[in-house]
Amino acid sequence: MDTELLLMVVICLLISTDGLTLEPTELLGVEGRLSVEATDVEMASLDFGGLSRDKPLAVLHPASVNDVVELMSSAYGSARGFTVSARGHGHSINGQAQAANGVVIEMSRLKGSWLRIGELAHSSSSSSSKGGFYVDVWGGELWIDVLRGSLEYGLAPRSWTDYLYLSVGGTLSNAGISGQAFNHGPQISNVYELDVVTGKGELVTCSEDKNSELFHGVLGGLGQFGIITRARIALEPAPQRVRWIRVLYSNFSTFTRDQEYLISLHGEPASQKFDYVEGFVIVDEGLINNWRSSFFSPRNPVKISSIAANGGVLYCLEMTKNYDNTTATTVDQEVEALLKKLDFIPASVFMTDLPYIDFLDRVHKAELKLKSKGLWDVPHPWLNLFVPKSAIEEFDSGVFKGILGNKTSGPILIYPMNKDKWDDRSSAVTPDEDIFYLVALLRSALVSGEETQTLEYLSHQNQMILSFCEKVGIKVKQYLPHYTTQEEWKDHFGDKWSKFLKRKMEFDPKGILATGQQIFQPSFTFASSS
Ligand code: FAD
Repeated sequence: MDTELLLMVVICLLISTDGLTLEPTELLGVEGRLSVEATDVEMASLDFGGLSRDKPLAVLHPASVNDVVELMSSAYGSARGFTVSARGHGHSINGQAQAANGVVIEMSRLKGSWLRIGELAHSSSSSSSKGGFYVDVWGGELWIDVLRGSLEYGLAPRSWTDYLYLSVGGTLSNAGISGQAFNHGPQISNVYELDVVTGKGELVTCSEDKNSELFHGVLGGLGQFGIITRARIALEPAPQRVRWIRVLYSNFSTFTRDQEYLISLHGEPASQKFDYVEGFVIVDEGLINNWRSSFFSPRNPVKISSIAANGGVLYCLEMTKNYDNTTATTVDQEVEALLKKLDFIPASVFMTDLPYIDFLDRVHKAELKLKSKGLWDVPHPWLNLFVPKSAIEEFDSGVFKGILGNKTSGPILIYPMNKDKWDDRSSAVTPDEDIFYLVALLRSALVSGEETQTLEYLSHQNQMILSFCEKVGIKVKQYLPHYTTQEEWKDHFGDKWSKFLKRKMEFDPKGILATGQQIFQPSFTFASSS
């Protein structure tokens, strides 16, 4: 009997009887635990989005990389095959880490065993320009733990997500973006090397110079080519403190012009640019302090209602400047000099100052607050779009000032990025313009006040936004994409589709991996698809 069949028989027996003496773990030859317990199975069928729920047959809690290799080899070697999905921290929206009737590998449970700091020699290879410190981490490590571990050495990664309770493998499978991306690129542009267990069960070390097809494929690859078990992440000296600034605009063109000006400074010395540039749209009164990051200590408190008296939309530009003991004396002047170049509403400057880790971990505080009120574990029909710069005005009038009405049910982020900070060889997909915006509609299906914005209502509104873009010809790309048909995926990848397919054939020819992404349906055949 092949291993897969044996495994499935044991799983079925475990589900139907109590008295087995042989554990499936022993049969599979893994050190960790292969579980069919209801709590494990239930957990692996849930995610942050709460929109879909597919149960796996079993959940593997690996004890080492060998366990991942063992499971993948069994899945690949078996005659009928079973699907395998890595689950980082389950913070997907649409079941991307689920594996219906397959096995989910809980990556984020194996903690802390890996964190190793090192330094690259500048002259070693073609990636010599990337010389400097790095940290090697387990693929399931959470970014908060990567940060804490690196800070012990006075170092920190340089590109972030807004929220740190996400796994390294989970964000690298997408891109990993935040307000530092204009300067350092997304997280996938800040990785030197990976260990990946492919869909054929092979453990491969890859980088720009070594097995580069796999390296570039996996970065932004939606889990399709292999499971990241180790990532080597670029580090920089950690700043100690952060000056965090928000200013308001009522005019969209002025707001985006200032944002684009700030990101154009990426090549300037650190003293002459901000370290982080984001922004958000304020459609509802009160969202200056939205759940994503409450913000205290306004320097010049303004009444939002007095600025947007006509019920219009406001835009908030958000920036930070990092500093430490050596630059503490100059940070005020540097911030003032940069603010002078901007054209925000006078007297709308909100400023606060906090330790670096508190800034990076800002969303977690909001999470704890929402959790305590029972408002975190609700459906999240989030929509993240990359909008080309040339169409952002039209998007504003059609969506922010049109479709959304005066109620949003959650924060709406908007910030530009420089495309040349993204490596086009990766699997990540961005619009075909030098500058594009992230527009993130981070909404919760909640009952608030007298109005109810149900899941159906918000999902329908998302659809209206996508249809609007299609109708007026705005070539958006979804970030954290979710499609259900082959045609939509082909369209999403555009020029990159044939390469994506080729990589799939090479690294996961049986279509075992990350089926929750719904890119390659069970009926899919490679031959008929190119
Ligand atoms: P999971 O949801 O567990 O997995 C996502 C996909 O990656 C699945 O297909 C899974 O199979 C695959 N995968 C997971 N681990 C591995 C691995 N080791 N190897 C290969 N494939 C793997 N994104 C941003 O870019 N910027 C943000 O600021 C940001 N903020 C967020 C805030 C919140 C509150 C939430 C819920 C999400 C946010 N995201 C953000 C989105 C987030 O980056 C993605 O949803 C990411 O996939 C979540 O990571 P995870 O570890 O939970 O992945």
